[in-house]
Amino acid sequence: MSATKLQAPRGTQDVLPEQWPERLNLERIARRVLEDAGYERIETPTFEATELFSRGVGTSTDIVQKEMFTFRDRGGRSLTLRPEGTAPIMRAYLQHGMHKLPQPVKLWYWESFFRDERTQAGRYKQFWQLGAEAIGGTDPAVDAELICLLHTILTEVGVGAIGLRIGSLGTVQTRTAYREKLIAYLRANEDSVSAEVRERIDLNPLRAFDADDAGTREVMASAPRLLDELDAADAEHFAQVRARLDAAGVGYDVDATLVRGLDYYTRTVFEFTSESLGAQSALGGGGRYDGLAEQLGGPATPGVGWAAGVERILLSAEPAPQRHAICDLYVIGESVAAFALAVEGRRAGLAVQQELAGRSLKGALKQAARLGAPHVAVVDDDEHGRIALKDTETGEQTVVPDTAAVIARVLKGRHPG
Ligand code: AMP
Repeated sequence: MSATKLQAPRGTQDVLPEQWPERLNLERIARRVLEDAGYERIETPTFEATELFSRGVGTSTDIVQKEMFTFRDRGGRSLTLRPEGTAPIMRAYLQHGMHKLPQPVKLWYWESFFRDERTQAGRYKQFWQLGAEAIGGTDPAVDAELICLLHTILTEVGVGAIGLRIGSLGTVQTRTAYREKLIAYLRANEDSVSAEVRERIDLNPLRAFDADDAGTREVMASAPRLLDELDAADAEHFAQVRARLDAAGVGYDVDATLVRGLDYYTRTVFEFTSESLGAQSALGGGGRYDGLAEQLGGPATPGVGWAAGVERILLSAEPAPQRHAICDLYVIGESVAAFALAVEGRRAGLAVQQELAGRSLKGALKQAARLGAPHVAVVDDDEHGRIALKDTETGEQTVVPDTAAVIARVLKGRHPG
């Protein structure tokens, strides 16, 4: 095998042992914050029927157009590695009849996702997202609750310079009417916008607000704004969300041009950023998707949720305190009796490591010291059963009659008194 074949594919990464303390710290914080608010964990399959995403995410999005990892199984069915979490969770909600549970059903997840994107810092082909969804509630308090929960998680994990932008896309009807208005405006100005925007005027006119070129930006500066077109009910819903964020002391900027990459959003949309991230500043975001269940063929079911990038959060968070692995007992010896002592010790609840590298006694003791083991058991390979137990702090060494006695002593040392 050549050296390049030994590299993980571009856009994927190994999560190495030294990176786990930070990940676990984030997961622990997220789990506590979300579960204390009544969100329960869910995990969906790594791949789904392709149709779920082409119907759910919307065919005008980049994800469906060019970023999905799609393949056929042996039966010829088209399957896709999940590019996002909301459509699969809505699928699970509908499939398992969760509408019979008390509403809203509040779920959270921590899963890997797959998008065939151009790889750069903070943008990978396989990445992890932490997400939360509340399905079956229209109350603006649900939107605000979710935003506050992500804000709490980001704050607790030590993300610096958190920014929050919020907007409202209105309902499907408002958006459709607005879309026509925007398309007409873009058509009237099509000579001044970029070719990419021009090609997508009918497909996704809202994305013109995201364009970077000067011509399009100038045109968009005076384009009609969706926020000005909201009907009374949508405007009131948005005002109620903002009132709750104000009450919670969560600062935000209203952004009339905020568009999210997925087609299913209605009403509230939001995005968290961190200045410490540079170009890929989006930490996570989400919104309300009251039309998604119907797009998937289910009954009308409101929902709201967010997803946040685990790698991006960790890049912008404070380093987590490193916790050292604990080793209560280090067992030296190659006999079956030595192996049995290690197994019995673990069954008794001790953290036990056995010398497995065939080190000399001196080398093995050094390794035990490196691990910070307070006790070392040297099991004599010849005289079956003879065990010398060494207290590494005092240097005291005792011959102990059997395995049970070793474990009792180490346990006693571990829980003084
Ligand atoms: P999205 O589902 O596109 O709204 O993404 C939500 C969050 O997931 C983003 O704000 C990023 O933090 C993260 N994310 C999205 N795509 C990627 C990617 N390709 N690589 C790493 N993180 C990503």
